[in-house]
Amino acid sequence: MRALARAIDNHDLPAVEKIAEESQEDPFEVLISTMLSAQTRDPVTAAASARLFRVARTPRTMAKLTTKRIEKLIYPVSFYRHKAKHVKATCRILVERYRGRVPGTMEELLTLPGVGRKTANLVLILSFRSLKNICVDTHVHRISNRLGWVRTRTPDETEQALYKATDDRWWPYINLYLVTWGQNVCRPLYPRCGACVIREHCPRIGVERTSAR
Ligand code: SF4
Repeated sequence: MRALARAIDNHDLPAVEKIAEESQEDPFEVLISTMLSAQTRDPVTAAASARLFRVARTPRTMAKLTTKRIEKLIYPVSFYRHKAKHVKATCRILVERYRGRVPGTMEELLTLPGVGRKTANLVLILSFRSLKNICVDTHVHRISNRLGWVRTRTPDETEQALYKATDDRWWPYINLYLVTWGQNVCRPLYPRCGACVIREHCPRIGVERTSAR
């Protein structure tokens, strides 16, 4: 983790981290941009979030937009129709149940439409400064298994296994470090093992082919 901390300095922050930094960790912007980011490339998430926040920056104003308008603003994020519905429904609940604020517990966050553990954990880590959560997305799941930290089939299993397998001082950073590494070096196909600063510590479990560069 120390080697990764140094190495990621040379790479761009993932889209949601950048949005968190620019919005002073605003929970609403982190929540919505994380919802948009699922299975979507970072530049597309960043551009879609910027278009949406330009029009509406609070649950109250966003709840007033029609689903069609949200769809148009966030296109071409993947599953934009589903996501637009979830964004609108989530904003309504935030207004009606939480007085226009994003709640700060896992249980409450999971009641919001379209919000799973990945999104809830990231909101808790980035906006509520939680030190007790690990956010596992596809990059964290893949790399933790390649490194042999866990042996799991799903991101939810990986999250639970990582609480046991890793030192808690790293929990809030695991997502940032492994997502950055996964986007740039430990890619899904053809990971760049030759350029990897942690190759000496990595058994490369399940890696069949690596990149020549
Ligand atoms: S050595 Fe290869 S498989 Fe292991 S973390 Fe680095 S890029 Fe990923």
